[in-house]
Amino acid sequence: MTAPARLLNARLPRWVLPQAWPVKSGEPALATLTLAGGRVASVQPIGVPESLRPGDWDLGGAPVLPGLVDAHTHLDKTFTLPRMGPVQPGLLGAIDAMMTDRLGWTPDDVYARGSRALGWAYQAGCVHVRSHVDWWDPTGVPLAWEVLSALSKEWQGRIHLEQVSLIKLPLFQEVAQAHRLARQVRAAGPQARLGAFVHSSNWDEQALRNVFAAAAEAGLDVDLHVDEELNPHARGLAATVRIVRDTHFSGRVVCGHTCSLAMQPDTEAFATLDAVAQLPITLVSLPITNLLLQDAVTGRTPRQRGLTLLKEARSRGIPLLVASDNVQDPFCRVGS
Ligand SMILES: [Zn+2]
Repeated sequence: MTAPARLLNARLPRWVLPQAWPVKSGEPALATLTLAGGRVASVQPIGVPESLRPGDWDLGGAPVLPGLVDAHTHLDKTFTLPRMGPVQPGLLGAIDAMMTDRLGWTPDDVYARGSRALGWAYQAGCVHVRSHVDWWDPTGVPLAWEVLSALSKEWQGRIHLEQVSLIKLPLFQEVAQAHRLARQVRAAGPQARLGAFVHSSNWDEQALRNVFAAAAEAGLDVDLHVDEELNPHARGLAATVRIVRDTHFSGRVVCGHTCSLAMQPDTEAFATLDAVAQLPITLVSLPITNLLLQDAVTGRTPRQRGLTLLKEARSRGIPLLVASDNVQDPFCRVGS
């Protein structure tokens, strides 16, 4: 199918409309979009009914959205569930199942699953995907990391693919090792970000400080899995705020999950959010996975939800994204 030259009668979301857009009886006018090189070259309100020219598509008032961003995925794990045996419910059970499956990973296996996921994402309108990649061995680069680097090049021009090292926090306890890990991540290229898994089961504030020091030295942005739990005493986000503020960290910071905020007393959670709002921190919520994963146990109905404080974050102007996280793996059995 050849790409259209113009899209007629397109309905745009209000937040992308140019200033001074004509609005009649509360409804914004439909638009004509002129396309060039796969991008929008101009947007015009329709003043008079248009006649179709070759290359025009008449959308008849259908909605048109900008390319979608999926800010948090796990392409290395996706589509592994069908080949697994029974999986214990909850986050830690899923981690155990994944560790066993990982023993059989080959570059071809990760490439096939990652390619399939990117194909689905592209068909769904995604133009920018960020994937975390499990990184458990401090002495070497995981094979999935190399595969993701190759996929990032292969998909250039269709999907901008970023890759984040998902390294458990204790591996940053030793300063020299923290810096070595950051340099290895940096070597993958400008699409790489430094990430860590921060959880009350592995909590170590000094290790988290080392993450930020190593990222600053390597010139990396940071993307954390943080407080993905219903434990109100999880303090990863609050500590991240302190560290970013104390060290004047100049990169971007993404904190994914932050489920435990929803379990804390309002005064405590809101104080943390007030501080987040003053810093270059973006929150990412992963509702599909966390609604299934948090409070999941055998023989009892889950009663608690894994959502962070979405409305409270937005009301403070904190950048907030919703992303897909896991797809058809032990962390999330559904999804696309
Ligand atoms: Zn994740």
